[in-house]
Amino acid sequence: MDAIERRLLDAVSLEAPWELVEAFSRQPRWRPEDVNKAADMIEARLKALGVPVTVHEADLCLSIPLSASVTAGGQTFKAKPPSSALSVPGGRTAKLVYIPANLKALRSYSRDVTELFGGAIADEAEVRRLVAGKIFITEGFGNPALTSLVEEWGGAGVIAVNPGIDTHWGTCTTVWGNPDLDDAPRKPKIPVVAVNKPAGEALIAMARAGGEATIFTEMLEGWFAQKIPVVRIPGHGPDRDDFVLVHGHYDSWDVGVGDNATGDATLLELSRVLWANQKDLNRGVALAWWPGHSTGRYAGSTWFADAFAITLDEHCVAQINCDSPGCRWATSYHQTRAFTECAGLATDVIKAVVPDAVVQTMRPPQAGDYSFNNIGLPSFFMLSSTMPEALRKEKNYYDVSGCGANIAWHTENDQLEIADRDILLRDMRIYLLGTLRVANATVLPFDYAALAREFLATIETYGKAAGDPELLTPARHVTEGFLAAAEKFHAAPPADANAKMKALSRLLVPLNFTRTARFAHDPAYTTPPLPGLAVAAEFGKYTGDAALVADTQLLRSQNRYVATMRQAIRTLIR
Ligand SMILES: [Zn+2]
Repeated sequence: MDAIERRLLDAVSLEAPWELVEAFSRQPRWRPEDVNKAADMIEARLKALGVPVTVHEADLCLSIPLSASVTAGGQTFKAKPPSSALSVPGGRTAKLVYIPANLKALRSYSRDVTELFGGAIADEAEVRRLVAGKIFITEGFGNPALTSLVEEWGGAGVIAVNPGIDTHWGTCTTVWGNPDLDDAPRKPKIPVVAVNKPAGEALIAMARAGGEATIFTEMLEGWFAQKIPVVRIPGHGPDRDDFVLVHGHYDSWDVGVGDNATGDATLLELSRVLWANQKDLNRGVALAWWPGHSTGRYAGSTWFADAFAITLDEHCVAQINCDSPGCRWATSYHQTRAFTECAGLATDVIKAVVPDAVVQTMRPPQAGDYSFNNIGLPSFFMLSSTMPEALRKEKNYYDVSGCGANIAWHTENDQLEIADRDILLRDMRIYLLGTLRVANATVLPFDYAALAREFLATIETYGKAAGDPELLTPARHVTEGFLAAAEKFHAAPPADANAKMKALSRLLVPLNFTRTARFAHDPAYTTPPLPGLAVAAEFGKYTGDAALVADTQLLRSQNRYVATMRQAIRTLIR
C-alpha cells in the first residue's frame, strides 16, 4: 500500500456506518414509501457528514409481494410470492406435478433442463408433457429461468419448496429493470410462490397422490417514483474527467441488515472518507444507492445505466458492486466475483487488507446490480466476504445469495445480529482500497492478456464439447492475435493506454456477458462465457434440419466475435 492508501484506510471508522446499520435494522425497506424514507435517511446522514448528494427521482416498474398461500387437501399453507409473480387474489387451481430438482443447482438461473433436474427427466419433451396445465412443484427458490420455462411448457403455476424452515423472498422475472417493448412480454404470466420445507413435503406427497392445489397471490404492481441518492466526488489528477462507480442497493426484504444495510453503510463511509480526501484522487468516484433491486429486478441501477448511459460509456472506467459485506462469520473470500481482467486487482486488494485471506475469484453471474455489462464496464466485487465452506457445512446451511452465506438471507431473520462490526470494518477497507486502486492508477489496472487467455480456454471447451475443434478455428486465430497484441501492450504512454483500455472494455465486456445490443439489458438468466459461441457446445443435440439452423446461428455469432476481436486488435495497435 502506498502512503495515500494507508492514510485513507486508517481514516475508515465504524461510527457513521454502524449508526446507519442500526437505523436500517429498524426500517423496513421494501414498500415504495418505506424505500423513499430510507433514501431520506441516507441523504440526512450524508448532509450531516458534510458530503453533497444529488437525489434523483426515478420512475421504476415494481412488483411488490403482499401475500400468498397455497390450499390443498383441506389445508392452507403459508407462502411468499416472489416479485413479479402473476397476481391471482382469487386463486388458481390445477393438479399438482412434482419433479425433483438437481439439489446442487438450486441457486442457478440456468435454463438447461439437465442442469435443473439432473437425471430426473429425459428431455424437454417429457417435462413439457408432464407440466402442461399443472401446478409445478419442485425444490428451490423463486427462479426467473425456471418460471420462464414452466410458462413456455404451459404450466399453470409454480411452487418452489425452500430447503429449510424459513420461506425466502425473491423474484421470478427475467425482465431486467424497467421493461421496454422487447422485454415487457417476458413478465411472468403464471402465479409463483415459495413455501418452506415442511409445507413443501406435504404438497409433494399430495402431488404424488395425484392431488390438486390452489395458489393465491396478491401483488402491488405499477410504476413508482423512487429516490436514488448519488454522491459525486471529483478527481483532481490528469484523468479527472473519468470516474469509478461504486454502488449497492438500499431497498431490501424486510429490514435486510446483512443484505444490504451493511453495504449501504459501506457506501456512506466511503463517501465520507473520499469526500474529505478528494485532493488525493486522480479520477473521480460516483457512489450510488439503488432502490428497486428486490421488487424491480435491479430497476434502480438499470435506470441509472439508462439515464446516464452516454456519460458511463465515455467516462466510467469500472463499476464496483457492494452487496452483503460485513456479515457474521463471513471470514472467507473464496467466492469473490470479478471479471477476469479485474481478477488480479481484486485479489491484490483483498490480500493487501487481509494478508492471510483465502481468495478465489469467479465469473459474476447474470444477477446483482450488474446492470452495466451491455455498456461494457470492467467490473469486480458483488457479494463480499462469505462463510468458509467448512463452517457452512458444519452448520448444515444450504446455498443462498447474500448475507455472507447466513441463511437469514431474504427472510425476517436478517436482523442486526447478522452484521459483524469487525468484519464490516475490514470489508469497508477492502472496498475503499479497490476504489482507490482504480481511481488512482496511472494506467488502468486491467489485464487484457488474462482475458484473452480466458477466451481461448472458453473456445477450446466449446470446440471439444462440439466434438469438432475446427468449428471455432476463426475465433481461436483472432483471439491468439489479440493475446499477442495484449502481451505487447504495456509500452503505451498512460493517457493513450487508458483510452485504449476503455475502448477495449466497451468491445469485450458485451462480447463475454451479453447476447443483446449495447444499451439494452439482457434477461436475468445465466449467460455462459462468450454466449454467442456457446451454441457450438450444444451441437451434439441438433440433427437434420435443426443442425443447419444451429450452423447458421454459429456462423452469425462467430462473425460477430471475429469482427469485434479484430476491432479490439486494431484498438490496441493503433
Ligand atoms: Zn443484495
